[in-house]
Amino acid sequence: MAPITQPNAAEHETNPLEALQARFDEAARRLQLSEGMWKVLRTSTREITVHIPVNMDDGRLEVFTGYRVHHSLARGPGKGGIRYAPDVSIDEVRALASWMTWKCAVVNIPFGGAKGGVICDPRILSAGELERITRRYTAQILEFIGPERDVPAPDVNTNEQVMAWIMDTYSMHVNLTSTAVVTGKPTSLGGSLGRREATGRGCMIVANEAVAVRGMKPQGTRVAIQGFGNVGSMAAFQMRDQGYKIVAVADMYGAVYNSNGLDIDKLFAYVRANNEVVGFPEAEKIDRADVLTCDCDLLLPAATENQITSKNANSIRAKVIVEGANGPTTAQADDILRQKDILVVPDILSNAGGVTVSYFEWVQDRQGYFWTLDEVNTRLERIMRSSFHDVHEAAQKHNVSMRIAAYMLAIDRVAKAMTIRGIYA
Ligand code: NAD
Repeated sequence: MAPITQPNAAEHETNPLEALQARFDEAARRLQLSEGMWKVLRTSTREITVHIPVNMDDGRLEVFTGYRVHHSLARGPGKGGIRYAPDVSIDEVRALASWMTWKCAVVNIPFGGAKGGVICDPRILSAGELERITRRYTAQILEFIGPERDVPAPDVNTNEQVMAWIMDTYSMHVNLTSTAVVTGKPTSLGGSLGRREATGRGCMIVANEAVAVRGMKPQGTRVAIQGFGNVGSMAAFQMRDQGYKIVAVADMYGAVYNSNGLDIDKLFAYVRANNEVVGFPEAEKIDRADVLTCDCDLLLPAATENQITSKNANSIRAKVIVEGANGPTTAQADDILRQKDILVVPDILSNAGGVTVSYFEWVQDRQGYFWTLDEVNTRLERIMRSSFHDVHEAAQKHNVSMRIAAYMLAIDRVAKAMTIRGIYA
């Protein structure tokens, strides 16, 4: 199996593999991880590339390429999304699979890390073509997945419908109805209550803990949110309900600001109708990039990766950053934020609410017994709060950032599981 490859120098600061490896290496060095364990945890356990023949609507036969990577299965079945995008690459899928290992370990849920993707552009595919790609891809990775093996979920450009097709295809092959093979399903098909809000809710829970650490209170704390999709909008509602004042929101088209606080219900309705935040009447328009550096107390990047870099980190005014997105901060920016004494709650902790409720979905499917929304939210809160405190205590004990502490905690949990299992020969 090929080791994870190094990016070339030009990709330096913003390469997802490099970002991941920089953090992994620092945490592993501080843990004094043995060289052998270091090698094992830097590589994937298993990788599959599939070439997927699909009949297109115009009668052509097309071939798509897809991947599924298991980074580590030491603590349980693989867990991780499937993304459909033109720029999916094996290196990206490897990095994302490894990210999932650390995310599941940091919140201590019994999964390993996996990820998958298909190189395609869903914007130019019909629903029928998407369904045929999904079903054939599922059939070709069939031996890799399963409730005890590897449990996919939605990611970029995949959704509840795609999960339902995967669940159906898998079920047809094993000749029984297996809802626990994927998470992020519709609730009519074994999905969990609370999954849609889970990542934003998790961000709110860790934000509450982080502001308390800084001697602040949610009431009146001014928040800027980059991204108003699932994570950003759900976090905005949850935080508003806790008393935070959401002063700025950006999406990919622009940003709006109101120092008295934006009315989130009205903004959400406006975005529903207009597909963008710009033009919202009760706010002033600001540059999209300025949302990161505007006058606020807490910043929630919830859009995409590599937004806080060595170029803008110095201008950030927030005292606390809660990373809703995956990989919004580069390793170079991390150093600057630490010098500025900004408390950064790292992505593998702060956006883990989504995978935590995915875990609940898997548990409920396997039990065939479904929880109330209240039960889901109470259990989510317990896990997010205790994980925050585990990471915060580790950061203080080792005098490192919360990000490095989260990696140390996660790597240690995975390494311990591997050590006690032993290396089968
Ligand atoms: P989404 O597609 O629903 O929303 C993304 C939002 O970001 C949109 O409002 C888009 O307009 C905005 N955006 C994109 N580029 C931007 C830019 N340069 N500047 C400002 N805004 C920009 O996606 P999502 O599901 O909310 O996911 C957001 C991030 O959170 C991603 O990094 C994702 O991997 C991560 N994440 C999501 C979940 C989940 O449960 N949805 C779980 C964990 C992590």
